[in-house]
Amino acid sequence: MTFYFDNAATTKIKPEVVSEMLPYLREEYGNPSSLYGIGRSAKKAIDRAREKVAKLINCDKGEIYFTGCGTESDNTALKGIAYRYKDVKNIGEVISNKNKIKKNHIITTKIEHHAILESCKNLERQGFEITYLDVDKYGLINLQELKNAIKEETILISIMFANNEVGTIQPIKEIAKIAKQKNVIFHTDAVQAVGNIPIDVKEMGIDMLSLSGHKIYAPKGIGALYVRKGIEFESFMNGGHQEKNKRAGTENLAGIVGLGKACELANENLEYHTKHVGALRDYFLEQVSKNIDNIKINGTMEHRLPGNANISFIGIDSTALLLELDKKGICCSSGSACNSGESNPSHVLTALGVDSETAKSTLRFTFGEFNTRAEVDYLVQNLIECVWNLRRYE
Ligand SMILES: *Cc1c(COP(=O)(O)O)cnc(C)c1O
Repeated sequence: MTFYFDNAATTKIKPEVVSEMLPYLREEYGNPSSLYGIGRSAKKAIDRAREKVAKLINCDKGEIYFTGCGTESDNTALKGIAYRYKDVKNIGEVISNKNKIKKNHIITTKIEHHAILESCKNLERQGFEITYLDVDKYGLINLQELKNAIKEETILISIMFANNEVGTIQPIKEIAKIAKQKNVIFHTDAVQAVGNIPIDVKEMGIDMLSLSGHKIYAPKGIGALYVRKGIEFESFMNGGHQEKNKRAGTENLAGIVGLGKACELANENLEYHTKHVGALRDYFLEQVSKNIDNIKINGTMEHRLPGNANISFIGIDSTALLLELDKKGICCSSGSACNSGESNPSHVLTALGVDSETAKSTLRFTFGEFNTRAEVDYLVQNLIECVWNLRRYE
């Protein structure tokens, strides 16, 4: 039996998503660029999926570009904008400035996913300048610091919607407002937020947004990037004319269809989903706080993804605890999935001011649509036992 509490790392594909995909893995195998029947029907399927993705975040379907994953969406946003505008002295209607200034400065935060941080490092090696904003102990950026960081050279602000480790939700609308006032493009990595909380890119003023299929009950290997109409970006996959010349390569037809279905379901279920995973998380934290001493809950309960719990079990090595829980069939995470195996404390917890010993005693539990209260009871009971056993031999 698997008891899965690592929904921020990936999610189980919904059966409805699989059903929707199957025809496109079997008889509907046409290339969407082909002109005959099965090609045209593949193209139509992509069109329908694009509409469903667009509807979930309230944009036009022409503003959605399918990519290979959330990581590719993030890379495309950062490098696509950086390359497009680096030599542009006059960005014209897209971004008006006083010309003559090289747009080579990007602002992000210290708690981004590696897809953003490593893209930034790559851009730094190419001569771009990156500002990494600090966060407070809750994981929130300071809006005044953001304002102060913006200069004539700034082309892009990339700040994640919600953090994958501690679940902190940033003041996205306020960030978008600041970006707009200063004529800076605003991208957000919303891979963790999409499908978990309501997102309306129009109402929130978001220019670009990354999302990923496998975090919202669709398969791995499919992502999307929303780019507001009028914003130009350089493509770095060159080849055929797919995705309006912005992402060459024959489309991942079944993946796209799956992502579309997952977005449709997320849209229909959003209210239930938020309540359901939020109730499980709250119940979990209540039980853990009541039954286990010497713990620290990281992040903030006020601006937090509904399904996220991040707990330091003081004095315990998180890997040891994780492996004990694994013996019981329980899946959770130390740091983020991408950090596991690393001996360094999480860069996110470090940025929140958590000391390295505490950081190394931390586990993340992320609840999803398939989890039940009975599963949480099983988790709590085993967590109590494992923590007790590990502490006994200290
Ligand atoms: C998972 C994740 C990504 C990467 O998405 P992939 O589809 O796995 O490449 C990027 N950003 C955040 C916040 C994530 O949680």
